[in-house]
Amino acid sequence: MTETADRVVVVTGGSRGIGRAICTALSAPETVVYFNYSSNSDAAEATAEAIREAGGKACYHQVDVASTDAVADYLGGVIKEAGRIDVLVNNAGITRDGLLVRMKESDWDAVLDVNLKGAFNCMKAAGKAMMKQRYGRIINITSVVGAAGNPGQANYVAAKAGIIGLTKAVAKELASRNITVNAVAPGYIATDMTSDLGDKAKAAMISQIPLARIGTPEDVAAAVAFLASPAADYITGQVIHVSGGMYM
Ligand code: NDP
Repeated sequence: MTETADRVVVVTGGSRGIGRAICTALSAPETVVYFNYSSNSDAAEATAEAIREAGGKACYHQVDVASTDAVADYLGGVIKEAGRIDVLVNNAGITRDGLLVRMKESDWDAVLDVNLKGAFNCMKAAGKAMMKQRYGRIINITSVVGAAGNPGQANYVAAKAGIIGLTKAVAKELASRNITVNAVAPGYIATDMTSDLGDKAKAAMISQIPLARIGTPEDVAAAVAFLASPAADYITGQVIHVSGGMYM
C-alpha cells in the first residue's frame, strides 16, 4: 500500500500494549503511522483499526527489530514509499527473566538483541533519512529498572540502561541536524508483559508506587506524544519517568 501524508511516524512493537497506545496517540489526519510487530497479526490489525479511528493512516509489517537486514529493508521501504520519517519510537521489547547465575546465554542474547540492538538498528536506518531532511524526533522506551536496577532481570536491566546511554550519545550526535533523541521510562504498566503477576505481587508493587496505582499504556503514550510535539522542540537527551513516582 502506498501512503502519502504530511507526517510520517514509525513505532516498533505497535501491535499490543504500550505500542498500540503510542500508535493511537500519534495518529491524526495527514499522519501515517507505520508500525511493526513480531508475530501477532490479529493484534496488529486491531492497532491499525485504532489508528484509523483516531484519523490516521495505518501501515503494518511483521519485522523482527533484532534483525539488522530486516530493519534496513523495512525502513528503507518506508522512506521510499513515504519520502521521510519524522518520528521514530523504539518501543518493541521482551523479557526473559531469571537470576544471573541461572540465566541462559540465549535469554541474555534475546533480550539484548530485541531491546537494545533493535533500537540501534532502527535509529541507524531512520537517522540517515532524518539527517538529510534536517528534522527528526526519536523516542526510546526504556524502563524504571534501567535506572534503578531489579533483581531477576539482569538482561532486561542491562538493555534498558543501555537504551539510556544510547539515547544520550545519539542526542549529542544528531542535535546539530535538528533531531532530538529522548527516552521515556515507564514504571509498572498494565499490559500483557506484566499480566502474569499474581495478586500478592501486584499489591506489593503498588505499595512501592507513591501515586498508588498501576499505570496505563495511555499514561506512557501521553509522554511520548509530548516529546514528539513542537512543545518539546528544545528537549533532547532526557529521560522522562512515567512511573507514578516509583523512581525519583
Ligand atoms: P507487550 O509485551 O504488551 O508488547 C510488546 C510488543 O513488542 C508487541 O507489539 C510485540 O509484537 C512487539 N515485539 C516483541 N518482540 C519484537 C521483535 N523482535 N520485533 C518486533 N516487535 C516485537 O509489551 P509492553 O507494551 O508492556 O511494553 C512495551 C515497551 O515498554 C517495551 O520496550 C517494554 O520493555 C517497555 N516497558 C514496559 C513496562 C510495563 O510495565 N509493561 C514497564 C517498563 C517498560 P507481537 O504482538 O507480535 O508479539
